[in-house]
Amino acid sequence: MYENEIESIASKGSNEEIYSGLLQLAKDAAAGKGRIQGKKKVYYISAEFLIGKLLSNNLINLGIYDQVADALKRHGKSMAEIEEIEKEPSLGNGGLGRLAACFLDSIATLGLPGDGVGLNYHLGLFQQKFTENLQQEVPNPWIEDQSWLRRTDVSYPVLLGGKTVQSVMYEIDVTGYDNQCNTLKLFDLDTVDDSIVHEGSIYFDKENVAKNLTLFLYPDDSDYQGQLLRIYQQYFMVSNAAQLIIDEALAKGSNLYDLPDYAVIQINDTHPTMVIPEMIRLLVKRGIEMDDAIGIVSRMCAYTNHTILAEALEKWPLWFLDRVVPQLIPIIKMLDVKVREKYQDERVYIIDKDERVHMAHIDIHYGYSVNGVAALHTQILEDSELKHFKDIYPDKFNNKTNGITFRRWLLHCNHELSAFISEKIGEGYKKDAGELEKFISAADNAADLEKLLSIKKEKKIQFKEYLKNKEGIDIREDAIFDVQVKRLHEYKRQQMNALYIIYKYMQIKAGNKPKTPITMIFGAKAAPAYTIAKDIIHLILCLSEVIRNDPEVSPYLQVVMLENYNVTYAEKVIPAADVSEQISLASKEASGTGNMKFMLNGAVTLGTEDGANVEIHQFVGDDNIYIFGASSDEVIQHYDKGDYCSERFYDGDKEISKLVDFIISKEMFAVGNKKCLIRLYMELVTKDWFMTLLDIKDYIQVKEKVFADYEDRSAWARKMLVNIGKAGFFSSDRTIAQYNEDIWKLS
Ligand SMILES: *Cc1c(COP(=O)(O)O)cnc(C)c1O
Repeated sequence: MYENEIESIASKGSNEEIYSGLLQLAKDAAAGKGRIQGKKKVYYISAEFLIGKLLSNNLINLGIYDQVADALKRHGKSMAEIEEIEKEPSLGNGGLGRLAACFLDSIATLGLPGDGVGLNYHLGLFQQKFTENLQQEVPNPWIEDQSWLRRTDVSYPVLLGGKTVQSVMYEIDVTGYDNQCNTLKLFDLDTVDDSIVHEGSIYFDKENVAKNLTLFLYPDDSDYQGQLLRIYQQYFMVSNAAQLIIDEALAKGSNLYDLPDYAVIQINDTHPTMVIPEMIRLLVKRGIEMDDAIGIVSRMCAYTNHTILAEALEKWPLWFLDRVVPQLIPIIKMLDVKVREKYQDERVYIIDKDERVHMAHIDIHYGYSVNGVAALHTQILEDSELKHFKDIYPDKFNNKTNGITFRRWLLHCNHELSAFISEKIGEGYKKDAGELEKFISAADNAADLEKLLSIKKEKKIQFKEYLKNKEGIDIREDAIFDVQVKRLHEYKRQQMNALYIIYKYMQIKAGNKPKTPITMIFGAKAAPAYTIAKDIIHLILCLSEVIRNDPEVSPYLQVVMLENYNVTYAEKVIPAADVSEQISLASKEASGTGNMKFMLNGAVTLGTEDGANVEIHQFVGDDNIYIFGASSDEVIQHYDKGDYCSERFYDGDKEISKLVDFIISKEMFAVGNKKCLIRLYMELVTKDWFMTLLDIKDYIQVKEKVFADYEDRSAWARKMLVNIGKAGFFSSDRTIAQYNEDIWKLS
């Protein structure tokens, strides 16, 4: 199919013309596939969809990638250079948004009817720039005249700030692998005006909701206006979603009382929680009794919890909500009254004694399913964080360990490895990831292990060239690539990795040179208002400069911080990684999905027993992973007792204090900002809320073992093999099959 079209597109003169031709071709091909149909449909509502570039992904899923790549080759072009033209959509932030994108891919691939529902942020999150070793944030406009977005004539009235506005719905096709399509539905307002954003900054008039509503994902909420704007965004998202769901069900013959037979709503974290009271409100408006409406909605909604970090569980003051969504207040109060009538425990109330509305509590009481995202995470929810809810609703709780789509995170980003796997075990694993396990016995010989190492080498060279072109940074392909890429947060402990760099720097200065040079690669955006996170970026950039300028050290150690880490960057750096850094404080990382991408691409994990690392450990066994640090039980006990004191570790251990002191050394002050460095130093010594100093020595010791083991190349290659072969469980196809089996029950 499409031979003539592809040939004519590939023969065009400029890369822009080729890209534009392929974009249109993929859209037409997707339309030709048709839509997945079914009586009951899942609506995956999420504030974020970190979908990444779509061209290659869609060509693979539509089954025409190889044909296009061949045609381009004949005309002296490569897919890689055409992909460069596409801008990465900026509709997400980190793991949660990427998970939503992987889920959409798997829902369509499994042939299940299911759409994503979110917002069309014009300027996205922000684009990260580094100047003077500091993070700068600038807008990230990504929507171009020709894009994957399709404007529809679907439009709903939404009450915003006392006025009714009229929404507009855009769609992006979600192509299933070798299957029909679903869609991602993104709501927007025609009145939104990008020009109100100050030149080169992410600041704008926060009061004018009609103009600013869908400018940014997570607009600055360090002030009152910013917080209100976030509630406006959430309400706009869910009011549109609720109206869409009702419309689609009515069109399929629903009488509204049977709405749960037509629609299930998966609430991704608490941002879409207001869909519950909004849906109740809309049903009551259509003449359904309040109690009936509550019953109907409660049988439609399921909630996914993504974190146990207290600051991330949204609690909005009632009077805030009253300002933004007064129409929901009577319903939220009623939902709270019903809870109080049944349960005397104030920890489960929706509105607390300080008149704050606990969004997660609405989800748990008025949804029929609550799931965590990895075995350990769900266990912590059940045993401690949400124990009082588990006691009253024992059957609502369930685990759904996260997953990733192998189409993007193997077939697309690592053609070399997937071709080798196909050669060894056939193509079955592309749809049934469990088959990957066959790869272990099929490739367990010297020649094949050698091949694995050579593929890794090739991916390192490709990444080296990409980095050189993009940022002008030179790295050595013969070094060990040790990679920590993820959002910046103290609990993820990039600062601990930085302390290791200081350790290694001092070792090299003292004459203890590593056998193989080490390249430490970081990528991370920090939230614009998160001061300590930005200080940690500053620390890493300063270390990078100090080491780069030290001829004694730089031949053995390099530190690179990728600018503006995003999906595109992830696709380049993960296949090139030898070591996957997953070093969160145990109990704090709900699951992680980066860990799975690395594993699938043959990197070996250095990590704590946290999130899905626990399950990775179980699958690969002790010999194929490096585990260190305090257990989640120990950590939870420290928090309960309040007995962790970083100052004791600092004062009591010269080896530790030496590392921390380097942050405020003259070498660092020479390249860095004194105020930031001192602030971070003080934070570590006096607070260290995520217990860096508790685990640092164990971390250093185990990391030294990782680098020593790397020297035995064939033993290392075997670890790579086992990691790849055991990754099947972490396919999001498995995760989605479980959501469907236990929660959605679509067919
Ligand atoms: C997978 C992914 C993440 C999540 O990484 P974690 O290590 O699980 O936190 C964040 N950002 C991007 C761009 C990703 O692709």
